[in-house]
Amino acid sequence: MTDHADFDENDGSAAAERKMRFLYALRSRGVTDTRVLSAMERIDRGLFVRGLFAERAYEDMPLPIACGQTISQPSIVGIMTQALDVQPRDKVLEVGTGSGYQAAILSQLARRVYTVDRHRRLVREADEIFRALDLTNITAITVDGSFGLPDQAPFDRIIVTAAAEDPPGPLLAQLKTGGIMVVPVGQSDTVQSLIKVTRTETGFDYDELRPVRFVPLVEGLGTE
Ligand code: SAH
Repeated sequence: MTDHADFDENDGSAAAERKMRFLYALRSRGVTDTRVLSAMERIDRGLFVRGLFAERAYEDMPLPIACGQTISQPSIVGIMTQALDVQPRDKVLEVGTGSGYQAAILSQLARRVYTVDRHRRLVREADEIFRALDLTNITAITVDGSFGLPDQAPFDRIIVTAAAEDPPGPLLAQLKTGGIMVVPVGQSDTVQSLIKVTRTETGFDYDELRPVRFVPLVEGLGTE
């Protein structure tokens, strides 16, 4: 166990038990990929939740973060990461940095992670955590991610952690052949569908994975 995993806990055995329960909850909700589980074991979710809700960081629930956004439920992070099937040489784009938690997990599995958010403040705060943890393969950028990141395209994998009405065209265009995109699709105030898109030689295959609920993908930059 790394030092930062114990940052708010003097009693090492309580921290170990908390971590065991956290991993057990992930497994029981369908996160079975051992690479994903060990990445989630290494990255301490407690570092990405601030203020009042910090003590609930190890529960399997979404929690509020700055700018009116949310850090996703850990089991959903695990299921999306598992569906993305990240390979060690992959270049990954995440749209929706939020707290930075999902990007930190991806950094353990991929060669390079670009993560973008429309809120400058979220990008800045996430970037501070990436530096503190020495996660040097993550680049965090403030930009409207509905247009992807043309300068760095194409990507092996794209993960969108905000709901779009349809998979955004520019993101589909920035996916390599053989590449995978995972994206919640549907209206923002209803239950959405988590979709896995695979780019083939001739087009795109779509798989519907499960119902989810995400904050909406919003155009333009935020005010904070
Ligand atoms: N993956 C995050 C949770 C994301 S919440 C985590 O691990 O904590 C969804 C995020 O998507 C919010 O931070 C929101 O600001 C961002 N977002 C919404 N629309 C966006 C857009 N067009 N471009 C970039 N980010 C966007």
